[in-house]
Amino acid sequence: MPTATSSFAPSHLSDTPPGKPPIPELPTPEPPTPGKLWRPRRVLITPDALALPHGRAMLDRAASFGAEVTRLSANRLSSLNADTPGKSYALAKTTFAIVVAPPGQRKLQPIPPSADWQFHLAQGCPAHCQYCYLAGSLSGPPITRAYANLPEILEALRPYAGRGNVTSRSRTRAHEGTTFEASCYTDPLAIEHLTGALEESIRFFGAWEPPAEPPAEPRPDPDGPQPAPATVQLRFTTKFDAVTRLLALPHHGCTRVRFSLNARSVSRDFEGGTATVPQRLNALRSMALAGYPVGLTIAPIMPVENWQAEYTDLFRAVAVAVSGVDRLDLTAELITHRFTPSSKEVLVGWYPKSTLDLREEARSEKRTKFGGFKYVYPKDSMAEMRSFFESTIRAHLPTTHILYWT
Ligand code: SF4
Repeated sequence: MPTATSSFAPSHLSDTPPGKPPIPELPTPEPPTPGKLWRPRRVLITPDALALPHGRAMLDRAASFGAEVTRLSANRLSSLNADTPGKSYALAKTTFAIVVAPPGQRKLQPIPPSADWQFHLAQGCPAHCQYCYLAGSLSGPPITRAYANLPEILEALRPYAGRGNVTSRSRTRAHEGTTFEASCYTDPLAIEHLTGALEESIRFFGAWEPPAEPPAEPRPDPDGPQPAPATVQLRFTTKFDAVTRLLALPHHGCTRVRFSLNARSVSRDFEGGTATVPQRLNALRSMALAGYPVGLTIAPIMPVENWQAEYTDLFRAVAVAVSGVDRLDLTAELITHRFTPSSKEVLVGWYPKSTLDLREEARSEKRTKFGGFKYVYPKDSMAEMRSFFESTIRAHLPTTHILYWT
């Protein structure tokens, strides 16, 4: 087993007072913490959810964190509108709802370029990121809803093993097995202390029966990290750090946790209610030492002032975080900032004082497969950033497998 210690803090990424440049220093140890835990003010549960053991277990957990309990009389959430948009947002973001996932969610959809399939343990997130991608994909008040029919959700994944056109058909990713992404509509670690759903999912994937035949294509890069071929893989990404309960689970290498990281000023200015970047790096190290495949979700990439220096600092800090980890299996996903007209409208409503750059005239339009369009950085800027990120990762984290740039 690895012998490196699991706690560290890259001190040059610690919070820096505005206007003061950070002072690069060697990392210093920091005692482990229980992690960032959200405490909802109220928990709502529907009758169907209350009838299920996992629903009742989540209710008990939420109540133990001090949430006021309301047992609903119908299987729908009543409106949480307050007298102002700001109060409605605050009301929704402090509410945890326990519901049953609709049957339609058991028919899985692909999620390129991340994974073969997406599935959902919950919908919504308690954090307050001013660029939140959920603004473009979820409608209604941003209540965090967790699903009580977890065993049914997990069992519905089984027919999808061996199928998929994203990682399964990729020349360089087929060794990951059939991949299932659990963080499209939520940050599952943000609510794990209330749901226990990640723990169940990690156990489920770790115990999944192996196939009769191994995956067809081994990884072609002999110099890269060489994980054992997987049959199936659970994937999730997070901006939280409460991983202690996950460390000793029988994951058998079938779960890849990616930590969503960003430049210091992006995280400081636009990410509210999350764990700090140094805390996420501590959690990354702990999970890697526990033998999990790990990853970096660098998102959303923004060419802020001094972006090259800030992102270089970030990769130096990641290199420290993974130093000494045996059999490190580290990937990177590189996602530039983008927005749509509708996501901008939602975000401006949620965060009216945000300084996030949402100027359409500074972007290019890109058609989506659904016939709409999104605003992305112009071609030259994208090319410059891509070249920088790929070369900087190669320099500081040479064994990292970059999965995609978008
Ligand atoms: S952590 Fe992710 S899902 Fe949650 S608010 Fe931030 S961007 Fe949105």
